[in-house]
This record gives sequence, C-alpha cells and structure tokens, in this order.
Amino acid sequence: MKNIKDFNLDELKKEIESIGEKPFRANQIFKWLYVDKVKSFDEMTDLSLELREKLKSNYEICNFEILNKLESKDGTKKYLFGIGDGNAIESVLMDYHHGKSVCVSSQVGCKMGCKFCASTGIAFVRSLTSGEIVEQILAIEQDTGDTVSNVVFMGIGEPMDNFENVMNAIAILNNPKGLNIGARHISVSTSGVVPKIYEFADKNIQSTLSISLHSPNDEKRSSMMPVNNLYNIDKLMEACKYYMEKTNKRISFEYALAKDNNDNLADAQQLINLVKTKLGNHTNLVHFNLIPINSIEGGKYTKSSMENIIKFRDYLNDRGITATIRRELGSDINAACGQLRRQNLKQN
Ligand code: SAH
Repeated sequence: MKNIKDFNLDELKKEIESIGEKPFRANQIFKWLYVDKVKSFDEMTDLSLELREKLKSNYEICNFEILNKLESKDGTKKYLFGIGDGNAIESVLMDYHHGKSVCVSSQVGCKMGCKFCASTGIAFVRSLTSGEIVEQILAIEQDTGDTVSNVVFMGIGEPMDNFENVMNAIAILNNPKGLNIGARHISVSTSGVVPKIYEFADKNIQSTLSISLHSPNDEKRSSMMPVNNLYNIDKLMEACKYYMEKTNKRISFEYALAKDNNDNLADAQQLINLVKTKLGNHTNLVHFNLIPINSIEGGKYTKSSMENIIKFRDYLNDRGITATIRRELGSDINAACGQLRRQNLKQN
C-alpha cells in the first residue's frame, strides 16, 4: 500500500483527486500529519468517517518503531528505528545552540564502501522512500516533543544515490504548511557522486551542500573512498566549481583527520593548492569542516591528536581558507560521524 508520507503537498492533492476527493482535503491531511503529528487516520477528526475509511483502504501511514534509544552525556540521542519491513536504521538528534538538528539516514546500508565508515560494514539493502526519510524527523519530534529546526543528510547511506527521494523529502520537510524546516537549514552531504552534484546545482534549491573530501591526493583518496576511482578529485572539483558558479553558494568540505594518513601540514598545503587552482576566485565560498576521525571496529584509521587538528585548522585559516573543527557529539553512544549502522548488531 502507498505510504501517505511519501507525497509532497502537490502530489497529495493529485492523489486525493485520484480517489475522487476534493484536492483541499490534502491540506487537512498534511496538517494532521506534520503539524498535529498524528499517527492514524482515525485521529483526523475533521474528515468524515467515510473519508477516513476510504483513506485507510488506500494508504498506510508509516510510523517507525523505536527499537532502541541511547542518550549521550552531551544530550545527543541516537535512535534505532524499525522501519516496518524487518530493516532498521539509525537517526541522531543533536542539541546545538541554534536549535535541534536531526541527522537522517537516506538508505538501508550504503554502497560507497568508504574504508573509515561503519555504515559500510553491512551490505546495501535498499534506498529509503521520501516518507521514510521524513518519518525519522517526525518520530523524533513525537518522542521528545522537540521541534527540529535543522536536518542533515549525514546518516547511513549516500543521499545522492537516492536523489529523487531525498529531493522530495526536502520538499515535504520545508513546506510551510507542514514541518516548515527552511531549505537553508537542510544540508546534503555526498561522498562525491559527481553527476548528481550537477543536478543538485541545476535545481538551485536553498539547501546546502557538503562534500566528503578527506584528501587532496587521488591515490590517498582512492584508498579511503572507492568512489574516487569513478570520479576523481579533478572531476569532483569541476562539479564543485559548477555548483558555486551556478548558485553562488558555499560548499562545506568534510575532512576527517586520521593520524599519519591525511593530517600532515603537507596535506593542508596540498588542499590549499587544490582549492586555489581548481576553484580560483570561488575560494571564498570554500569552508573546511575538520572532523576528528572516529575509529571503527576493524578499521585502520585512528584519530589525529586535537593539537594536530588545531594546527591543521590554523594552517588553512592563516592562508585564507576558512576551516572549523566539527564538535564531536554522541561519540560515547556511537552516534558520531561514521559510527551509524544499519542495525546495532553488537555495539552497545
Ligand atoms: N554518504 C554521505 C553522507 C554521510 S555524511 C557522505 O559520504 O558524505 C557523514 C560524514 O561523516 C561524511 O563526511 C563521512 O565521510 C564522515 N565520516 C564517515 N566515517 C567517519 C569516521 N569514522 N569518522 C569521522 N567522519 C566520518
């Protein structure tokens, strides 16, 4: 059966018409789902009983089950959701000074195979639907009573490998008649699926783009991220330049520092050269987000020392490249970058 949360408002209007109802009913349903946050058609009390029955026979409302919830010392909460077909995914709620932020998964498992990321440890199963992406935020709001103001596509999966559903989820999330999360407050991160970066640029939506770069050197990057064999750093940078030219928006480059791997000042200098030669006068739109790498079970990378990361940051900043260090949230409950998995097999 179709999940009613898979439709953006315009699509929902068409759906409702297709079962012989007036399109304005879609507005009522949308409000019940995303403003009142009800879990069943029975609770949509301004719809006639007859219509509620009709909706029930045509659609389901996907409601995730909380299989596990862990809370970090820093307030971060990690959810393991049962998504109804026997699969489970993780989502993380983070408390920043500017508001509540949810890190959502876009797929069950991931195909990208990055060597430092735990999400890769288990085989890819399938992409999530738009409704299943949106449901992560709804289920967390229902559980905590919080209002989420930011969403980052930085959980399990490669959002650009599930492009249509991710874009539609963004359309649902930022509808002012629903969850009303501003597009600027939604960020999509990619390991570097180049053709989709062009598509994303062409859409010219207000959501922000993050690129997982992790090394300025093709050989090293390929050893960390197999996607680099398909789309190397040159191709990636060309796509970034296109994005910047087209949108005049900033790109945040994620760079996870691993001890004795990519954390040397020589790497920092190579990064600067790369950015300046490939992005030229768009260099002012570059922001580096430095992440202390989290070691994963069976992985070969270990964290750089904070001293080293600070040196790396200062080196970039002193040479005109903006860099900040990402706060490590939730690492005590394996909720930090790269620690999410399809299931909590044996962790915690
Ligand atoms: N697939 C997308 C979305 C994941 S975002 C992407 O690759 O961008 C999660 C971010 O955390 C990415 O930048 C990813 O490279 C980074 N990451 C993955 N594993 C990590 C680890 N062990 N330590 C620190 N960062 C990690």
